[in-house]
Amino acid sequence: MIKIFGYVRESTVQQAFFGYNIEEQKRVITEYCKYHYQDYDLEIFTEMGKSARSLNRPELQNLLDTVKKAKADKVVFHSLDRLTRDIKDLYMLIEFFDKNKIELVSVMESLDLSTAIGRSHVFNSGVYAQLESERTSERTIRAYKQAIVEGKYPFPRSPLGYDKIDKRLYPTKDTKQLEIINFIFDSISKNTLNYVEVSEEIKRRYDYWMKDDTVRDIVLNKVYIGVMDYRGIVNEEYCEPLISKEVFEKANKNCKIKKKSHWRANYVFKNKVVCSNCEQPMVQTSAKGRFKKIYSYYKCPNCGKLASEDRLVERSRVELQKITNDYFKDGSGIDEKKKRIEKLKSSQKKLVESAKKEVIDIDTFYDVFIHYDEEINELQKQIDQIKLKINPFESLSTSFKNEIVNKYVKELQVVFTPKSYHCKVVFL
Ligand SMILES: [Zn+2]
Repeated sequence: MIKIFGYVRESTVQQAFFGYNIEEQKRVITEYCKYHYQDYDLEIFTEMGKSARSLNRPELQNLLDTVKKAKADKVVFHSLDRLTRDIKDLYMLIEFFDKNKIELVSVMESLDLSTAIGRSHVFNSGVYAQLESERTSERTIRAYKQAIVEGKYPFPRSPLGYDKIDKRLYPTKDTKQLEIINFIFDSISKNTLNYVEVSEEIKRRYDYWMKDDTVRDIVLNKVYIGVMDYRGIVNEEYCEPLISKEVFEKANKNCKIKKKSHWRANYVFKNKVVCSNCEQPMVQTSAKGRFKKIYSYYKCPNCGKLASEDRLVERSRVELQKITNDYFKDGSGIDEKKKRIEKLKSSQKKLVESAKKEVIDIDTFYDVFIHYDEEINELQKQIDQIKLKINPFESLSTSFKNEIVNKYVKELQVVFTPKSYHCKVVFL
């Protein structure tokens, strides 16, 4: 009798869109065994709601323990991405099964991972292509370096703002991409926004999703001043620059300090606060208080004075409640929110299509999909609040507060006195 173990894994997003649900995976495995083996005993391990990003999954660990003890002959799973998405983890798993003389079978990819051909297939398949590229061989690196010297661009994806034509980079004709690049360097060189905020703003302005780390990578990428720097090989005249050296250096300096993730916090008066002493727009900032509570502040880049968001809200409570009442009375917010929800839903659909075609990697897919979901839920909640006329300003979410402020407030002037500060709301 052959002892076979199966492994199935499901996460909610995938179940909904890829049809990889648990029952389907189990069915595939069961059918496969029926077809391929005669005298066997099959036991399936079921993992619910766990990501394949780490091996630290209870059922997978359980499986690894059990197959060793039970002297399993085979482990069958639905598809590679059910097992792991990390190439290093996959190497490790294959080694583990090898050592214990257990055959590893992936049904959907028709791969027998106990054979050399099966393995080489895996490491050359699209799923792992990107990860594999991180383990670039010395030979490839040499080839890349040679290409760089010759002014060629050897990597698969061209940087945002450039197109790859005949193996070389040229500024793209896509104006949206160019606008985004200019916006990034402009805001960061002038220090009006940090890269986390830039990432948020790009999403709002251009409906384009870019991780904050990517914004930072762009600012630090010399390709935008026409220079290619790859593993010590520098080509100073590599391509046409998109950004002046001066702006690039300023932006670089402002991007050197790694921002903490709590910079993500929303602000009620985002980009509206002005230091009236210096007549300068104040910059959003934050600090962690006791019990990890995050406090939002606005900082004057000129005199360095701070104003706390809580205090500013408190000092302008009457005005804020008045505009909230106006907003609720107007009611047009509902239509706008409904439109936005529709847009987000269609973006989700597009995203699913890209994921299916493997245009985007699965981790980005998850992050973006879940982000869209959160925004849809938030908008739905806001619609309900408007319908039910739940309108005390304090009861609203920060993003809703910010939307109302954006609609009615031109700026919030902060006046610093020697010991304290007060503020004045200027309406649009
Ligand atoms: Zn100031």
